[in-house]
Amino acid sequence: MKIITSIAEMQQVARVARREGGRIALVPTMGYLHDGHASLMREGRRRGELLVTSIFINPTQFGAGEDFDSYPRDFAGDTVLAAAAGVDLIFAPTPREMYPDGYQTWVDVAKISLPLCGAGRPGHFRGVATVVTKLFNAVQPDVALFGKKDFQQLAVIRRMTADLNLPVEIVGMPIVREVDGVAMSSRNAYLSAEERQHALCLSRALTRAREMYRQGGNTPAVLQAGVLAVLGAESGVAVEYVEFRHSGTLEEVATVGDDTLLALAVKIGKTRLIDNCILGEEN
Ligand code: AMP
Repeated sequence: MKIITSIAEMQQVARVARREGGRIALVPTMGYLHDGHASLMREGRRRGELLVTSIFINPTQFGAGEDFDSYPRDFAGDTVLAAAAGVDLIFAPTPREMYPDGYQTWVDVAKISLPLCGAGRPGHFRGVATVVTKLFNAVQPDVALFGKKDFQQLAVIRRMTADLNLPVEIVGMPIVREVDGVAMSSRNAYLSAEERQHALCLSRALTRAREMYRQGGNTPAVLQAGVLAVLGAESGVAVEYVEFRHSGTLEEVATVGDDTLLALAVKIGKTRLIDNCILGEEN
């Protein structure tokens, strides 16, 4: 498995792969890899002849006071997981390589970036859209895979790719969970044993909402009350948002349906966790 840190070298490798007729698949990550990342890589392996994963903790998507400095890192462990998942090449640029002195260009996806995580993390999706554009330009992928764990991120990237006519197929992959239901996340490493127990309330709240929906609950207000009852019963959990949105546009809905997104964000101690489901789907 090759490791490349320079954008120019990455572009050169991409040019050669494309000349030889191979499809390039890209899985962008911030490292500290887990099985959720591996599921994207395995699907990428099926879809491309050259499978690239990027490992880059993108400073521009972290706000002031967020966890950029403390974000977990384990490059050696990441190379083992990536190799086992079939990755051919890790692209791991430095922040300076991506944002050299004088950098001043941003990709801003307007409306869809504003609610949910965009409201609590202003500028976050501008950082995400910018870095994904730059990764696409470096890696030149035919297909890029993203997890539905970060549902709004996936929606922002789909919108951006369509709006800018980027020649990249965007694939959304199901949320991978621990056996007890907690969605896998690099940030779970921050949780104490006790907080990890409290974190169970997110997937429990999603399950509760889906049950209420199946039993005929059809307004956001009714389901939101059920979700808040589950989250509120857990000590040490501060709710940031519980929202029901159209799964394509992320606009608010008056009544919920099979394709309605339920998205949650909470803080457990200092750790911010998100989770979501589509009401009519199992995962
Ligand atoms: P991150 O390293 O957290 O930026 O995540 C990199 C990619 O992996 C993103 O597309 C995430 O949505 C995806 N991802 C993270 N956790 C999971 C998970 N539990 N299941 C599926 N995809 C995930």
